[in-house]
Amino acid sequence: MFKKSQKLYEQGLVNLVGAVNSPVRAFSSVGGNPLFIKKAKGSKITDVDGNEYIDLVLSYGPMIIGHRHKQVQRAVVKALKNGYSFGASTENEIILAKIVCDAFPEMDKVRFVNSGTEAVISGVRLARAFTGKDKIIKFAGCYHGHQDSLLVAAGSGLATLSLPGSKGVPEGAVKNTLIAEYNNLESVKKHFDEHNDIAGVIIEPICGNMGVVIPQKSFLKELKDYLETKNALLIADEVMTGFRSKFGGAQELLGVTADITCLGKVIGGGFPVGAYGARNEIMEEVAPLGGMYQAGTLSGNPIAMAGGISTLTELQNQDPYKKFNIIGNTIETILLEAAKKYSVDLVVNRFGSMMNPFFTNSQVTNFKEAQTSDIKKFAVFFWEMIKNGVFLPPSQFEAWFLSSALTVRDIKKLAIAVDKAMMAVSEM
Ligand SMILES: *Cc1c(COP(=O)(O)O)cnc(C)c1O
Repeated sequence: MFKKSQKLYEQGLVNLVGAVNSPVRAFSSVGGNPLFIKKAKGSKITDVDGNEYIDLVLSYGPMIIGHRHKQVQRAVVKALKNGYSFGASTENEIILAKIVCDAFPEMDKVRFVNSGTEAVISGVRLARAFTGKDKIIKFAGCYHGHQDSLLVAAGSGLATLSLPGSKGVPEGAVKNTLIAEYNNLESVKKHFDEHNDIAGVIIEPICGNMGVVIPQKSFLKELKDYLETKNALLIADEVMTGFRSKFGGAQELLGVTADITCLGKVIGGGFPVGAYGARNEIMEEVAPLGGMYQAGTLSGNPIAMAGGISTLTELQNQDPYKKFNIIGNTIETILLEAAKKYSVDLVVNRFGSMMNPFFTNSQVTNFKEAQTSDIKKFAVFFWEMIKNGVFLPPSQFEAWFLSSALTVRDIKKLAIAVDKAMMAVSEM
């Protein structure tokens, strides 16, 4: 079934590290070797051996309207014909900036970069520039890209590989990083009691990087209110949730406004785009208006901008958020009923089009609880799903994503796969 993937994997090992360009693509925690993909269309993805899968990875989020949507393809091809990169401004940057600032009312201005990692690096720098303070609080289990200062207690990728942090990060780089516990405001307050130089708190407003973990009722609102009393900024890392939880991200959904918002993934529709934005007063710190330097040769790349504009425009027209809730709820029910049928311990966390089944019997509201999951069970489940035509992220701690291209037939096929996979887990 995987002969060609197997062969490419072996070839890939020679000049690529582990044959992958991002460790989350390795199959370290589920065993076996990574699949090599040939193409994708709509809700489906096809590997080099010709196996077709319902895609719940969606490039880890970006492909929210499915693969190769007609409008997007047309816009990108049109942009290609005008040139690939100019090192000068283009009208499309203004158009995408307006779409983004309209979606996030707290953003007056936005700066485009090339990845989520870059967006967060810059957002954190901006918080420091604006407040004149150095320390940043992050939550255990939240992932904010691979920059040195936030690569501690950083969730899925590291958890999957059982790494506490990253080698090569000097102590000095994390000395201004403080760790708090998700859904626990007291753990934030404690840091403020002990330090008077905290610039802000960075958070995934709905966490997708320790598996999906949802903020409890008023956690975000209370956090934001508290930060205001401390003159510290709330940095919303909406790289995953932006345009996914709602068009205006988790903030629109939860009724909380951050001071600085970081975006990625969906914003480029599969092309490398990240962004950070804030109200004028804050963005005026950024060069050329202010003294915070941040730059990029390919930032605002015309092809990527065309991908972003067409994806977001189509997404806005489709407004699939209600549909996501319905499909998400259906899949959740399918999972829970199969678990019950085969007496497998399972907790499903879901928020709109992001979801995770955890193989555990305890609730999962933070990183510690997520880690009670049985990853051996997940590995068995994962491979049965693959064999039955459903492409999942190869880790217990990565979110599953839904696209608006999913069909009723896909869901039926998925239900059959889940039944078989859950049976396999119960027979371990
Ligand atoms: C994916 C992700 C990032 C990093 O984005 P890249 O484009 O992979 O650099 C940062 N923060 C969150 C919340 C993410 O999900």
